Amino acid sequence: MIIAIDGPAASGKGTLAKRIAAHFDMAWLDTGLLYRAVARDVLAAGSDLEDVQAAAAAAKSVNAETLDDPALRGPRAGDAASIVAKIPEVRAALLEYQRAFARQDKGAVLDGRDIGTVVCPEAHVKIFVTASDEARAKRRFLEHQSRGESVMYDDLLADIRRRDARDSGRAAAPMHAAADAVHLDTTTLDADQAFAVALQLIGVMR
Ligand code: C5P
Repeated sequence: MIIAIDGPAASGKGTLAKRIAAHFDMAWLDTGLLYRAVARDVLAAGSDLEDVQAAAAAAKSVNAETLDDPALRGPRAGDAASIVAKIPEVRAALLEYQRAFARQDKGAVLDGRDIGTVVCPEAHVKIFVTASDEARAKRRFLEHQSRGESVMYDDLLADIRRRDARDSGRAAAPMHAAADAVHLDTTTLDADQAFAVALQLIGVMR
């Protein structure tokens, strides 16, 4: 079984995907980490994030073993990722890795922006997770606060809106819900409630 979880930044899709995978003993891939790793490698090589050749080369040689790198966390890495993610050559280079991951025997949960539309249009379950801009910014704010980091709520809100606009406005695999995806709005749900609703949806869709 393949479960595709798409949605914008801080919608709760990553937490949800991880829990669903653990619940069903399936493999889980946070595909955003691939784009974050490409951006990291482009910058480490001293290149510009908009440099198509450099970004495509980084995508072709990205090492999936390095996806637990703490440097990939955080809004700055996410913002950089969304710049390289606009480049079709980058997306093409990452496609086969994601598809091969999805094909494993134990089944897989992939979360991202284009899983249900481009990477795994054949997925048995597609959930598009959303939440209001303000709810998502507040979640990010509380995460930073709990780590003792000082951030401005307004900056996080602006970052989320800029990233949404870039991800849904790009020509290559823009973020949008697949026609056969179920929408799950987590604005007023905590992680446990979102998980409970998702389990019900999976029971109906699989
Ligand atoms: O999900 P995450 O915030 O880690 O994603 C970082 C960025 O990577 C997104 O803003 C998006 O531009 C890009 N991305 C993508 N397609 C995916 C996953 C992530 O374009 N499947």
